[in-house]
Amino acid sequence: MGTTYTVKTILGSEQIQSDVQSILNRMDSAMSTYQENSFISRFNRSNGNDWFPVSEDVVRVVYCAQRIAAQSGGAFDITVGSLVNLWGFGPGERSTKVVHQEKIRRLQKDVGYHHIDVQLNPPCLKKFLGGVNIDLSAIAKGYAVDKVAEYLDSLKIANFYIEVGGEIRVRGRNPDRKEWQIGISTPDELGGIQKIISLSEKSVATSGDYHNYYEREGVRYSHTIDPRTGRPIMHKLASVTVVHDSCMVADAWATAITVLGPEEGYNLALRNDLAVFMIIRDKNGFIEKKTQQFNDFLEE
Ligand code: FAD
Repeated sequence: MGTTYTVKTILGSEQIQSDVQSILNRMDSAMSTYQENSFISRFNRSNGNDWFPVSEDVVRVVYCAQRIAAQSGGAFDITVGSLVNLWGFGPGERSTKVVHQEKIRRLQKDVGYHHIDVQLNPPCLKKFLGGVNIDLSAIAKGYAVDKVAEYLDSLKIANFYIEVGGEIRVRGRNPDRKEWQIGISTPDELGGIQKIISLSEKSVATSGDYHNYYEREGVRYSHTIDPRTGRPIMHKLASVTVVHDSCMVADAWATAITVLGPEEGYNLALRNDLAVFMIIRDKNGFIEKKTQQFNDFLEE
């Protein structure tokens, strides 16, 4: 998935290592837009209107994505793929060329979560406009973490830590028999720890504008696209961390809130009873904002 992963258990084995790798490979070959033959790449190239067979994994991710798209008023929207590519954050060479408004407007016609449909039995996707381009980058890593957790559960492993590209799920205790300690990065180049949280049966996902971005003429362009404008977000919210039972859900909410920014995003978190921690850029550094639910995970 263009990233790294870590799985920690007390009793590891080569078999576990190889099974985890197979699960992650399965996700990659189903959902990557970086692999030409993945279900998603082939679906993106298809003309639409007919049901397109995919794997059950893809359907489960798309179902969840559609739910969070609706709950976030379309801030989270997996049909932003063509805009992600336009702004230079997809597969292919990164271009930092000026992007013309006319081009954005043209691509925006194919953006909208209501332009796709999904069914589980048999697992299929459908698009109503040929140009619709799906990108699962904001949710599929979380799902992969959940699938690895399901596998470790099936082995009755009571204590584990799973991390794929920064999305995390833990269970039980760490080797010191304490809750797992997770550091939330300060969103700058130095990458210190802003906050430490303690978890035992939860997932945590962070989205932000500080890893994947470029600057042009003093303007920062990050990989999170606001589907309403067709442009990278321009507000001051630098990082959003969400704690949830499901890593897939945490992953998607973190992006949805990032799109909406410090005020609208915060209100969305409140409406959905989410445990959220935000780091907002300020002229003097950063300011923090959190929901009540997040306090449960802070160190005493
Ligand atoms: P998140 O905040 O979790 O997600 C941001 C990403 O979501 C953006 O980069 C964009 O793609 C998408 N997005 C932007 N705006 C929205 C929106 N409004 N709603 C929904 N989604 C939005 N990268 C590589 O370089 N090489 C690879 O081979 C590669 N393979 C991958 C395979 C898979 C299956 C997946 C899921 C990702 C892959 N990636 C690859 C992408 C890479 O890992 C991404 O940078 C990553 O998924 C983005 O995660 P994040 O946690 O940084 O950001």
